[in-house]
Amino acid sequence: MIHQLCQQPQIYQIHVDLPDNPLKYLNSYVIKGKTRNLVIDTGFNRPECRQALCSGLNELDIDLQRTDLFITHLHADHSGLVGLFSAAGCPIYMHPDDYQYLCDSEDGSTWKFAEDNFMREGMPEEDIKTQFSNQARKFSPKIDFSVHAVHDGDVVRLADCDFHVIHTPGHTKGLCCLYLPEEEIFFTSDHILFDITPNIQVWYNMKDSLAQYFRSLDKVYDLPVKLALPGHRKEAHSIRERIDDIKAHHHVRLQEVLDIVRKYPGSTAFAIAPHMTWSMRGKKWDEFPPTQKWFALGETLAHIEYLLHHGQLVRTDVQGIYHYSLP
Ligand SMILES: [Zn+2]
Ligand SMILES: [Zn+2]
Repeated sequence: MIHQLCQQPQIYQIHVDLPDNPLKYLNSYVIKGKTRNLVIDTGFNRPECRQALCSGLNELDIDLQRTDLFITHLHADHSGLVGLFSAAGCPIYMHPDDYQYLCDSEDGSTWKFAEDNFMREGMPEEDIKTQFSNQARKFSPKIDFSVHAVHDGDVVRLADCDFHVIHTPGHTKGLCCLYLPEEEIFFTSDHILFDITPNIQVWYNMKDSLAQYFRSLDKVYDLPVKLALPGHRKEAHSIRERIDDIKAHHHVRLQEVLDIVRKYPGSTAFAIAPHMTWSMRGKKWDEFPPTQKWFALGETLAHIEYLLHHGQLVRTDVQGIYHYSLP
């Protein structure tokens, strides 16, 4: 499915369906220039996504020989089909932190780190084993491509437009948004989503991701925005209210963790997570699909890490398993 979002520059959105995934679809953006085109993000490395993306590109008459690809961040729903573009020789743009993470993931070591970490946080081994079927793992790209590294403040000329790169660590360490100041168009990727809340996880390569995320929200708060184009779901025409809502949401969750730990001192993160409020269509924790438990524990841990950094929680190590209490 294709929508045209803007006439000048010519911006189109391709809905790339993400089967069996609560995100539903990825927004891949296509900007058609006079001499070259730009594609922003791709969908998972799976046939259903490839088909949706390719049919969208065909319908828009996109010649890959005259196309650049910008990957906003490492997640497989954004980077999965990079091979389609690298095989055609398209220049690929990405922040070096997320590119490095993808390279480190090739031998499974980043997943091993997450598994060991989640084990320490009380997740049972049988739950960890189910993660071999995690879509983020199964449909990730093959790393046989190199990138043009982009950094905060860069202005890159792509599809006849001057895109301003805004580095917004939090959702991932290397997530970059793109901004067109003249048109006040802001490609927010998964930094700001409007119908769902971006997932904030713990990372081995980023300390206190939630604090960094708050800073990255503040960083873009005052940008003039007429059209905000997110990585998933619906676009919007302003960002400030949404940023206020997202921050309020996380502050409620931080308080929720403190309340749970007050009630159940010495809990593991895995024991804290089921008591949090999750919007999983009325599902109880025990009915969560394994992948959702994985993301929920990661999200809980990001909040715990923030509270540890701010001296509001303490952690004790009991035979290799972490337990949390109020100071
Ligand atoms: Zn993401
Ligand atoms: Zn995403």
